[in-house]
Amino acid sequence: MSIVTFDLAADATPVAPALVLTLIVPVFNEQAAIGAFLTAMAPILSQLTPLIRSEILFVNDGSTDGTEFAIRSYMTRDPSIRLVNLSRNFGKEAALCAGLEHASGDAVIPIDVDLQDPPDVIPAMIAKWQQGARIVNARRIDRSSDTWAKRTSAAAFYRVFNALSDHPMPSNVGDFRLLDRQVVDVLRSMGERTRLNKALFAWVGFQTDEVTFERSARCSGKSSMNVWRLWGMALDGIIGSTTKPLRIWTYVGTVLGLLSLLYATYIFVSTLLLGVDVPGYASLVLLVLTFGGLNLFAVGILGEYIGRILTEVRERPMFVVRSVHGADD
Ligand code: UDP
Ligand code: MG
Repeated sequence: MSIVTFDLAADATPVAPALVLTLIVPVFNEQAAIGAFLTAMAPILSQLTPLIRSEILFVNDGSTDGTEFAIRSYMTRDPSIRLVNLSRNFGKEAALCAGLEHASGDAVIPIDVDLQDPPDVIPAMIAKWQQGARIVNARRIDRSSDTWAKRTSAAAFYRVFNALSDHPMPSNVGDFRLLDRQVVDVLRSMGERTRLNKALFAWVGFQTDEVTFERSARCSGKSSMNVWRLWGMALDGIIGSTTKPLRIWTYVGTVLGLLSLLYATYIFVSTLLLGVDVPGYASLVLLVLTFGGLNLFAVGILGEYIGRILTEVRERPMFVVRSVHGADD
């Protein structure tokens, strides 16, 4: 019996295995935007090959329109598209986590489907990644496409968050950023369920670089983020990142307690020396209302933290997957 051997090394040119980039695209009722998104993405991604192979991972966050149908019809033509369907609408933060869970890339980039995060900065992000950055932030240098109210409230949020948190978030950086696999694995290992991803991205550390872009208006449809949703996200971010709001009340309580003691001493002494004065109805009502309000405010803040403990100990999953499609499922 003869053994046939092949000399593979003789004429094979060494080809470095392609790195994989996963674009995580959360979608909620976005059927009109899918086509435009894929059309804008195609030339950028083909520019990256063969060095980088891309997959587009849509996370359908419980859409009730034709979003799933639209994605699946594009999937029949393009094997690089994958789809994770969630069982209902869980919100963008949870959808992003589902994306991180299912992404196979050596690097991932969460990106909105409405083209407000421009695909043409992706090659610059990849370049910074290849120079060694583990996180590449994309910072908005022009937000004139956002309303005045959104810009002002966002600026106020970053100011409050960064004043309270030990791990400041870069302002004007959204979820659109490049995350290396090492960072993704750290994020996936974190157990907390109520998340503001931007705050966690800032917490993990690692070498960080940035690119800049101008944020344009939505390509179609309208934003699903209303004031209450944004307010809830802001509170979740602050409560999840710092316990300083609790500590502040320790100091406020101490100062008010000392002031009350001084005032009590003053009243005690002046009554002894001058006798009983006309009772001060106005000041009494004012003090009762002020202290009542402060008490309720402090209890409310305490309640926020207790509510957060309840959501965490319940250990419900952040999202429920209904089905997974593409790349051999
Ligand atoms: N999105 C989502 N789940 C939601 C709300 C939004 O997956 O519950 C997606 C949406 O389809 C889009 C991205 O998150 O791809 C950003 O949403 P939107 O444009 O409404 O927010 P904005 O840009 O106004 O902050
Ligand atoms: Mg948008």
